[in-house]
Amino acid sequence: MRMRKKKHGEERIQACAELLIEDPAVLKDDPAVAFSDKSRKLCLEIGCGKGNFAVGTAAKDTDCNLIAMERARDVCCLALEKAMACKENRPDNLRFIIGDADNLEEWFPEKCLDILYLNFSDPWPKAGHAKRRLTHRNYLAKYKKLLKDGGLLIFKTDNVGLFDFSLEEFAEFGLKVEWMTRDLHNSERAEGNVMTEYEKNFSEKGFTINSAIVRF
Ligand code: SAH
Repeated sequence: MRMRKKKHGEERIQACAELLIEDPAVLKDDPAVAFSDKSRKLCLEIGCGKGNFAVGTAAKDTDCNLIAMERARDVCCLALEKAMACKENRPDNLRFIIGDADNLEEWFPEKCLDILYLNFSDPWPKAGHAKRRLTHRNYLAKYKKLLKDGGLLIFKTDNVGLFDFSLEEFAEFGLKVEWMTRDLHNSERAEGNVMTEYEKNFSEKGFTINSAIVRF
């Protein structure tokens, strides 16, 4: 998701500082350092976009601490502002990182995550770009280090090519697909599903949503 550089971008991000983990290196010693209740499950969303899923999931799953990661500063700014706008009930279980999934192992200690969310990750359709897909086996290897044994990857995409590729990668990596659908909104998991911005867009255009839950 590309956006023109926002005016006053840094000031706007600073205004949301209480929800931002400015230096993710602090997570290595204590991945729950930003949360008041450290006993909750720890979840990570990679590529949170404008934050609809993160804000909705944090409000719904109050037994989880959620870290939402987004590499595009301007986009993360919008997600931060969305979370800050929850005035009555500013989430104490949601924090953000501006950063790239490529740095996950530098920032997170091993076996710390209960759930990893990937929502509408960039499909990188050219075969030569397969390694950039966030479900490529090289990324699965990183996730395996970070997820607790038995931890879950919960994945949604409109993109059939990316979904099929991902199922192959999961199988290749020896992972068990616990549940999957090619039409999430007409499945038993439709209720309680928190929509992302892309999901709303694509489903309004008539695309069905693919989803898989994979156990590590
Ligand atoms: N999850 C949102 C946005 C999907 S677009 C939604 O469903 O509406 C994919 C997002 O992932 C973009 O905002 C992009 O900047 C981010 N992204 C892509 N690769 C990333 C990476 N390696 N690390 C962190 N964020 C990434």
